[in-house]
Amino acid sequence: DLIKADRIAAIGVSEILQIGARAQAMKREGHPVIILGAGEPDFDTPDHVKQAASEAMQTGLTKYTALDGTPELKAAIVRKFARENGLVVTPAHVTVSAGAKQIIFNAMMATLNAGDEVIIPTPYWTTYSDIVVMAGGVPVLVPCDDTSGFRLTAAQLRAAITPKTRWVMLNSPSNPSGAAYRAEDYLPLIEVLLAAPHVWLMVDDMYEHIVYGDFAFTTPAALEPRLAGRTLTVNGVSKAYAMTGWRIGYAAGPEALIKAMAVVQSQSTSCPCSISQAAAVAALDGPQEFLAERRDSFRARRDLVVTALNAIDGITCRMPEGAFYTFANCIGLLGRRTPEGQVISTDRDFCAWLLETAHVATVPGAAFGLSPYFRISYASSMAELTEALARITAACAKLG
Ligand code: PLP
Repeated sequence: DLIKADRIAAIGVSEILQIGARAQAMKREGHPVIILGAGEPDFDTPDHVKQAASEAMQTGLTKYTALDGTPELKAAIVRKFARENGLVVTPAHVTVSAGAKQIIFNAMMATLNAGDEVIIPTPYWTTYSDIVVMAGGVPVLVPCDDTSGFRLTAAQLRAAITPKTRWVMLNSPSNPSGAAYRAEDYLPLIEVLLAAPHVWLMVDDMYEHIVYGDFAFTTPAALEPRLAGRTLTVNGVSKAYAMTGWRIGYAAGPEALIKAMAVVQSQSTSCPCSISQAAAVAALDGPQEFLAERRDSFRARRDLVVTALNAIDGITCRMPEGAFYTFANCIGLLGRRTPEGQVISTDRDFCAWLLETAHVATVPGAAFGLSPYFRISYASSMAELTEALARITAACAKLG
């Protein structure tokens, strides 16, 4: 291949995007397709945040900013970590990038040498392994199915660590499973990590504000200060404040790591968008009450989807603690035959058949490294979800 460098040879365009493109094409052909694939809230960015962006433009905040975040935004992030996570850091521990995705990219580019291993539990957001590969590392995937609540166990972590391990990446609440780690889930993992000082921990807390019921969100660097010196706590405004397009992610970590990450940023994007940074200050420092309303709305949708899925013969769905995804097990459907005579052998077969005949777009577990499951994003209207679940139920009833 004359075009592709070795570092991206094994990386394809995301399967989620491919399914989305197929679904859009079917829509254009006139099919009533419902797409349950979105990775973003269906709410709008709050008005006070837009207002802050507008003021930033009017007052001339339209130039390059400090390399890894304005002093104002770093200060707001320091306040956020203290207020919401009990994590005490200084601006020197904080970095800001064009989304959490760039934070993760900077961290891996700054720290991985060829052959360094990164432990990633599956199902996982595929960006993790693709970034590790781009940075020359080796993803070590550890399957964590619904029998363990989609959570990595201490025994699994211990067994996966080798002398070449650089990082372990955790995501709570998780995309795609919606599973979240309670303090009692983190503590045994922290014990293992305390005994393995060469291993660093990256936690992706992106869905922190989307948790349900009495679930108490917590993050490892706050749970165990002895681990804070080798933990990168990743977060951002994309999901909490419905700001995916503004491209602001941030993290707290040890100063030496933050400095190394700044080197990557300085020769890639120079700085995050000045206007978006001003908007992010307003999001973090502004009113937070609307988060609870949005959470309640997501919870009603989660309950609708999980209840409907569990009523289908052949599907079981664990109740997720957070995010806006369900990751249902469809092992009971495998081996069944469609009215068209096709045998459903894999989760990919099932999702493709659902899209073609029921016109509902979901994503197979295979796209997240764990089969046989399928992901539904329920960041859609109740009406759309009700219709989609009715179609899935009717379709599954036709499988013989
Ligand atoms: N982390 C997880 C687990 C996600 O699912 C996503 C987006 O889908 C992100 C991070 C990306 O966040 P950002 O928009 O800040 O790049």
